[in-house]
Amino acid sequence: MRLSGKLPSMAGFVGLSLMLSGCVDLYGDATPYLGEVEERIALTMPANAPSIRQQYRVEDPNSENAAPYKHEGIDVIAKLGTPVLAAAPGRVTKSFVEPMYGNQVVIDHGADASGRRTISIYKHLDRKSVKVGDTVARGQAIGTLGRTGVLAAGILHLHFEIHRQVKPGGRGLIPIDPNRLWMNGVGKITCFDGAVEYDETVFRATYPVVCKGLNPAAVTFPHGTGSLSALKRPTPETATE
Ligand SMILES: [Zn+2]
Repeated sequence: MRLSGKLPSMAGFVGLSLMLSGCVDLYGDATPYLGEVEERIALTMPANAPSIRQQYRVEDPNSENAAPYKHEGIDVIAKLGTPVLAAAPGRVTKSFVEPMYGNQVVIDHGADASGRRTISIYKHLDRKSVKVGDTVARGQAIGTLGRTGVLAAGILHLHFEIHRQVKPGGRGLIPIDPNRLWMNGVGKITCFDGAVEYDETVFRATYPVVCKGLNPAAVTFPHGTGSLSALKRPTPETATE
């Protein structure tokens, strides 16, 4: 995207400028956290992972410099039509379109062994390939990356959020920096790889956009008819059926 107009110059809009200035490579790059963000996470970005163009940011209620906006997720850039993947196994609870964020999918991952429930949210999709009630496997393609919705500002990207219960069985789910919850550890962006057997004990996310050289999960049951217990990685025998 090219901008002929003026970019906002206020310090508080640095993030927006970064987002719009296109200074991030398509793969293996992660834009820094903004200056106002206190809890920065050191990131390890695989070279084949589509880049993160905007980081998580929430307003600090104690800050004197109130942030002009918050960003409760990460933005991942990739080409139009790149598969967007379920970050963990779960069930599709929302699949809809609205003007601001375009095509959206929400997956409920249920409560994990820690007793905390987690959901993940995918916005600006070009197409959705799941419907409400579908059971999805980790790494399954749930749609394609796009720029639907006014807030995509014409930029091809996935806006990805994770919301998680603070306490086991707690009431609300609050947004959490996805960089805290990658499968390989805090800050360690983890590409989905169908050849890996993942530990599903406690919620951990794999990257929500397919990494270069890898594929979405092979799903061997029709949409909506699987059970969560059936969401194991297909064995080589069943994968060829
Ligand atoms: Zn975003």
